[in-house]
Amino acid sequence: MSLLVKNVCLITMNESREIIPDGAVVIEGNRVLAVGSTKEISRSYSASEEIAAPGMIALPGLINAHTHVAMCAMRGVSAEKEEHLYRIYWPIEKAWTADDCYNCTLLGAAEALRFGSTCIVDHYFLMESVANATTKLGIRGVLGHTIMTEDGPWVGRAEFEKGVDFVKHWKGKNPLVIPCLAPHAPDTVSADWLTELNGIAGQYGVKQHMHVAQSPREVAKVKGGWGKGARSPIDMLSRLGVLGPNLIAAHCIYADEQDLDLLQKTRTNVVYCPSPYALGGVYSRAWEMIRRGMRVMIGTDAPCGNDNSDMFEELRVAAMTQRQLTGDGSILRARELLEMATIKAAEALGLEGSLGSIEPGKWADIVLVDTRKPHLTPNFNPVTNLVYAASGADVHTVIVNGEVVVRNGVLTKADLPHIIKSGEESAHRLLARAVEIDPALRPLVDEYL
Ligand SMILES: [Zn+2]
Repeated sequence: MSLLVKNVCLITMNESREIIPDGAVVIEGNRVLAVGSTKEISRSYSASEEIAAPGMIALPGLINAHTHVAMCAMRGVSAEKEEHLYRIYWPIEKAWTADDCYNCTLLGAAEALRFGSTCIVDHYFLMESVANATTKLGIRGVLGHTIMTEDGPWVGRAEFEKGVDFVKHWKGKNPLVIPCLAPHAPDTVSADWLTELNGIAGQYGVKQHMHVAQSPREVAKVKGGWGKGARSPIDMLSRLGVLGPNLIAAHCIYADEQDLDLLQKTRTNVVYCPSPYALGGVYSRAWEMIRRGMRVMIGTDAPCGNDNSDMFEELRVAAMTQRQLTGDGSILRARELLEMATIKAAEALGLEGSLGSIEPGKWADIVLVDTRKPHLTPNFNPVTNLVYAASGADVHTVIVNGEVVVRNGVLTKADLPHIIKSGEESAHRLLARAVEIDPALRPLVDEYL
């Protein structure tokens, strides 16, 4: 099976960050075979399917580096409420069933995919259900089953085993699933388990994806003895030998200078989630980390705290927030932001040989954005148009692993109206079950029942 995409403005994100104004890409199987001008490529190649897309920008699929897509089930439920993670999400999440999690993952992943994310780094409970849903839709995932020793909705040794079994089950099985280990956070996973998981990650050659320094409550618990003498969550991870290029550390918000030094020195990857921080009134030091030369990726975090999974919006909000916080309008240029969601994210994930740019030999994960719209005209500068003017709704076609999975906004491997209906029904069932299990939740969500 081969596919030729031509007559596009091609943003390659290759080493020289080449942009080909009338560009073309040849895809053979799941990989890019050749890239060039439409004229050159049309002369040398033919394909079983051709997509001529004048007026469109082709860019590498976006990598959403931290999310929990099934949490779209709680979209809007926590808006304008305090401490929603502990008071609302966790009590609701106790009520998940595998089927409802599958339906809500289809819904959340369909949103991400239609908005141009071809790879999501997802951290969640019931990860087998998540993987079944993401592979059904055809979106790629770096997936890890959430492991918690205590304090959350799904805790204990059985979850630990599920997390490890997930890696064993999916490793090398399907190019759409890149398994990782996903300890929840330094305050919810014991030092012993963190050490054990670190060893297992090394043994299987997989990444670890963890929330780090995300709340004052986490800092207080770690300092209060849980961290065995550590002065901060990042210090705890440093003492346990968990920091390093193998760790994807989401957030790192409550971090002081010493903590940033540790992250920098160990070359730990950090994920910055611009919209949820801005909405939550949380200060972010993303620019300081970038200026230190650290690898910072971009994520949407859960759709219920964002409240969407639109990576284009994240890029724009990142620029706005960091410039406003620093008082410097010249930082975080559009190209740099786009790199953080493509090639640099691929590097952080250790997948730079396969992901993050449109180049021969790489997996064919490509997004076409339709610029024939008032808000994207004229298209003098396609990179600034994508970062400052476009939104996920402008995504027209999405190719993942060489397969067209969204065509003109329509999913090709699943029925979107059905996904919306079953996802909504599951979300309502989840909430109804949750208040039965935990009546204390009722006053917080009563208006939605
Ligand atoms: Zn998160």
